[in-house]
Amino acid sequence: MTARLVVDLRVFRRNLDAVRRSVAPADLMLVVKDDAYGHGIAEIVRAAIDAGVTRFVAFTAATGAEVRVAAGAEADILVLLASADEELDRALTADLQLGVGSTALLDAAVGAAVRTGVAPRIHLKIDTGLHRNGIRPEEWPDAVARAATLERAGALVVDGVWSHISEASDADDDAARVAFDAAVATARDAGLSPRIRHLAASAASFARAEFRYDAVRIGAFCYGIRPAGGPGEDVLGIHPVASLRANVVDVAGDGVRVDVGALHGLPSTLAGLADVDGGGEPRRLISVGALESIVETWPDVKIGDDVIVYGAGAAPSATDLAELIDTIGEEIALRVNPLVERVYIEA
Ligand SMILES: *Cc1c(COP(=O)(O)O)cnc(C)c1O
Repeated sequence: MTARLVVDLRVFRRNLDAVRRSVAPADLMLVVKDDAYGHGIAEIVRAAIDAGVTRFVAFTAATGAEVRVAAGAEADILVLLASADEELDRALTADLQLGVGSTALLDAAVGAAVRTGVAPRIHLKIDTGLHRNGIRPEEWPDAVARAATLERAGALVVDGVWSHISEASDADDDAARVAFDAAVATARDAGLSPRIRHLAASAASFARAEFRYDAVRIGAFCYGIRPAGGPGEDVLGIHPVASLRANVVDVAGDGVRVDVGALHGLPSTLAGLADVDGGGEPRRLISVGALESIVETWPDVKIGDDVIVYGAGAAPSATDLAELIDTIGEEIALRVNPLVERVYIEA
C-alpha cells in the first residue's frame, strides 16, 4: 500500500510558534490525546520539546508515560482521565500530574500516593456547565477544603484548577468563566494556591484573551486543524501538519485508481463531493472503495503519481473535507488508520 500520512514537523514547529505568540503570556499545554490527533505521539512530543514546549496534556496514564519517555524528565505532563488504581500508580511512577474531577478521585490519589511513595501533583477540575466530569459547584467547597487539608499534611500538592468549556456559544462560555472564577476564589479561601489556572482550548484561547488565564490546552490549532465553520488558516496563522497521500496504481478512461480507501480512513461519503490534488490541480474524487478510490484523470498522468487527499498542495484541508460531510477536521484526522504509515519530514 502506498497510502501514507506525511507529517511535516517543520509546519508543526511554525504552528507552535504562532500559537504561543497568540496566547502569550499564557503558557501552551500541548494536547496529545489520540496519538497526538493521529500524528504519532513520540515524534510530535520530541519536535515540541525541541521547539521549547514544556507542558503536555494526555488522557490516559499509558499515553502520559509515553510522553514522559519522549519528553524527558523536565516536562510537566498532565493526565486528565486516569482513575483506576493501577492507572494512578502508573501515572505517579512516571511523574505525571493528575486531573482530579471528583472527590472520590481525590481519595484514590491519596491511596496511590501511599502505594507508590510519590505525593501527587493534582489539578482540580470544577464542572462549569459541560457536565462531562468535574467536581460539581455544590461539592466544590468541601472538595477544596479536603484538598487543602491533604496538602497541609504533605499528602499531595494542588498545582492547578481547571475546567473545560464548549467553545460553541459565547454566552455559555461566559457563564462558565464566571463559575470558574468563583471556584478559584473558593479554592484560595480554603488555603490553596493553585499556580496554573486553565480553561480554554484552541478556539477560545485565540478568540478571547480573558479565557487564557495561566495556560491554555491546545491540540487542534497546533496540528493546523482549523475549526469547522470558523476562521481560516490564514487568519489563525496555522497550516495543516499532516497530509494524506497515495499513488496512482492504474490509469484507464476518465478515472485513475488510487490506493487509498475507506479502510485507510477516507470517508466514503466524500465520493462525488471532494476535490483532491492530482497533478497539482483539484480533481474530483469520483468514488471510494474499501482499499482504492477513483479520481478524475488528468493529462500525462502515470502510474506512481502522487495524489494528495488532504492537507497540502491543491488538496483541501482536513476541515474543508469535514465541512462537506458535516463533521469536524479532528474527525477526518483521527479516522486515518493507525496502520497507515506515518512519514516524518524533519527540520
Ligand atoms: C481535546 C481537548 C482539548 C484541546 O482541544 P482543541 O480544540 O483540540 O484545542 C483541551 N482540553 C480538553 C479537556 C480536551 O479534551
